[in-house]
Amino acid sequence: MWQCKSIFLNLTNFCNVRCKKCISLKVIRKRGELSKEILIKILNLFESHHFCGLIRCGVGENLIYSHLDYLMGQLFDVKKKFRFDILTNGLAFPLDKEFYYTNPSVRWGVTLDGMTQDDIKGLQSGLDVELVKKKLFQIKKRYPTCNMYLNYTLHNNNLNHLIDFIKMGIDLNVNQIFVTPLKVFENHYTEFLSKYIPNLSLSSTISLFSEVKKIANQYCLKLNLPGNTPAPIPCALSGNYSPIIDIDGMVSFCSGRENVKIGNITNSAIDSIWSKVKEKTVIKSQLSNFCKNCLNINNFNKHILSVPSI
Ligand code: SF4
Repeated sequence: MWQCKSIFLNLTNFCNVRCKKCISLKVIRKRGELSKEILIKILNLFESHHFCGLIRCGVGENLIYSHLDYLMGQLFDVKKKFRFDILTNGLAFPLDKEFYYTNPSVRWGVTLDGMTQDDIKGLQSGLDVELVKKKLFQIKKRYPTCNMYLNYTLHNNNLNHLIDFIKMGIDLNVNQIFVTPLKVFENHYTEFLSKYIPNLSLSSTISLFSEVKKIANQYCLKLNLPGNTPAPIPCALSGNYSPIIDIDGMVSFCSGRENVKIGNITNSAIDSIWSKVKEKTVIKSQLSNFCKNCLNINNFNKHILSVPSI
């Protein structure tokens, strides 16, 4: 599994904010966080297998993970060739921890779904939008090389502030902005959430997007808008597998069938188990039975959230 381009590492399922769009409590996640013992084991495995891909950490709020200082300290070790993408809502960013922001192999992905408190009303509680914005500017002022991108989940309440958000990203000098429409998991669908899904076919939205693109181009900002993403190539055919390591060390072969666990990272046979599953996922360039139930493929046209491999 160490030859793949990315591995999803779940550090914690705890959070300091409550979001209506969040699936973690209701769907597949366990409560808790990755122990320091398992974290050390995983970091050693990354190193001993010369893993040089991307490790993505998401789901719970990573800034409140108990062993984040330890992890960030370890990542400063120059021998480590892998890169970390760490998702956060930004609320708990500590300003004085220089080693969080000056390591180019760590990229912070900040999800902020509004420019004002009203934008997130009813959808997120516990998040102070002004405080997060203030922190982002303080961090980028103090550590200008901080590797950061922004996420904006578009819904009917924050659509009008998209341009302001892009302009903020330009002022912050972030690397990239991902704008994604609010999507609802099949098993998390509620009438409440469905009302917020923006109707992206509206002509007003199309003209909004062209304006947004113009601004981004002018400032050479990388921007990913809804609709730009091509249909995913099944990783079983492209080879871009992305296994997931859960908080208890359990490994899922891929993001498309996360609920299928193949073993624990602490089991020394996990490598060969992963290789065997990989062999079985491709049958003469057609999708195997395992991949026929892939959420990434099956949900693409339904606008349901999935985590694509890179
Ligand atoms: S189920 Fe989907 S994500 Fe998993 S190996 Fe198959 S194509 Fe890839």
